[in-house]
Amino acid sequence: MGLFVPSIRRRNSEDIVMDISFSFEELEIKKAVRKFVRNDILPIYRELDERGELPEEIRKKFLSMGLLRSVFLEAYGGVGGSFTGLIIALKELSYASLVPSWVVFENFMLAYPLLHYGSDFLKATYLPGLISLDTLGALAFTEDDTGSDPAQLKTVAKKADGGWIINGSKRFITHSGICNHMIIFTKTGDNTTAFLVESKKRGYKVGKRETFVHTKAVDNGDVYFEDYFAPDDHVIGKVGQGFEILLRTEAIGKIAFSSLFVGVGQRAIDLSLNYARTRTHRGSPIGHKFQMTQAKLARMITKLNAINAYLYQVCAKVDCGEDIFLDGAALKLLVANDIKEITSDAMEIHGAYGLSEEYDVANLYRIAIIAQVVMGSLDIQRVITAKGMLAMHGEICELVLP
Ligand SMILES: Cc1cc2nc3c(=O)[nH]c(=O)nc-3n(C[C@H](O)[C@H](O)[C@H](O)COP(=O)(O)OP(=O)(O)OC[C@H]3O[C@@H](n4cnc5c(N)ncnc54)[C@H](O)[C@@H]3O)c2cc1C
Repeated sequence: MGLFVPSIRRRNSEDIVMDISFSFEELEIKKAVRKFVRNDILPIYRELDERGELPEEIRKKFLSMGLLRSVFLEAYGGVGGSFTGLIIALKELSYASLVPSWVVFENFMLAYPLLHYGSDFLKATYLPGLISLDTLGALAFTEDDTGSDPAQLKTVAKKADGGWIINGSKRFITHSGICNHMIIFTKTGDNTTAFLVESKKRGYKVGKRETFVHTKAVDNGDVYFEDYFAPDDHVIGKVGQGFEILLRTEAIGKIAFSSLFVGVGQRAIDLSLNYARTRTHRGSPIGHKFQMTQAKLARMITKLNAINAYLYQVCAKVDCGEDIFLDGAALKLLVANDIKEITSDAMEIHGAYGLSEEYDVANLYRIAIIAQVVMGSLDIQRVITAKGMLAMHGEICELVLP
């Protein structure tokens, strides 16, 4: 059964390895988002990366595109389209800036576990706002001591009359200062449980804000829970099911996350090609004159083509309802390594201009390197990929990390 049933495309994923083709709706999404990005985002992307907010007119246009709607069921305000369609949108959107695409991504990271594990009450109350992007979501797992290991979580939920009292803190949480709701993972005895929390309620306190290398514009920071009361009906799934929910959400989340960097890689290639055609050495463009510049361009495009092929193969698996636990991790490994190299090659092609803040390539590299850490370190992705391979050959593997 597909993850977003009913899907508009239902094919055997093995066929799709040979034949990546897109539906009419998916091609329309690509056209519309590309036009929006070229016309409305590219001209203001520097300002956007400073301020983090879309001007009102452009924000309205962005919301009216209903990008997250494309993938969710009609019952919650979606249109029941494919996961591939969402990935196409995220990839196109991040070509100019991560700011709007990160909003869609974060809302997906809350809407997805709500759709699959949430009660009817949670789905009816929270999904429509998240899917329309009228409300902002977040996901909080990381703490001071760990971003990888649920066994080390220190945020605790204790049973009380009619609900749970949550105490602890979360670190580096995207949108923790601006979100309306968040999924958090806490210890409940020996287990992990997922809760839906509301940022406006007593006991939710925003802490220190973080600035990372890639952008100042995306909100990120600490959040404290001080005797935060979560009613019983705000448990997502069952008590003790948190680790499973986290793994499943992160597996699909890594695909969405990876797609943001494919847009970044495409931009690095477009800028490099333009530079190689226009920068001259003794009267000839460097792209025509120097074979080593050509070698870099060739390496960049082959890497991006390989990423795209794997990305859409994994999307096809999602749309066919296949398990993507291994693929989510393997794709992130591929993307994090190769987009870093693509943006690094782009800087080299640009010479000193590649290091200048006046040009865009240095910033693309700064964006690319965060893919190595966010959504889990690459070492963890290696462990998950290898364990997934062993499990496919009948070995019994603990999902718990070493
Ligand atoms: C821009 C940004 C946005 C973020 N947004 C969010 C968010 O919204 N929500 C959220 O919950 N978190 C968020 N994070 C946190 C991020 O997901 C974590 O930082 C990441 O998972 C790594 O965790 P860590 O920093 O604790 O590293 P650790 O887990 O402490 O890892 C440190 C090192 O040890 C290695 N290591 C750890 N465990 C193992 C193991 N079992 N096997 C092999 N090697 C291992 C790692 O590979 C790494 O090299 C964000 C981070 C950034 C930078």
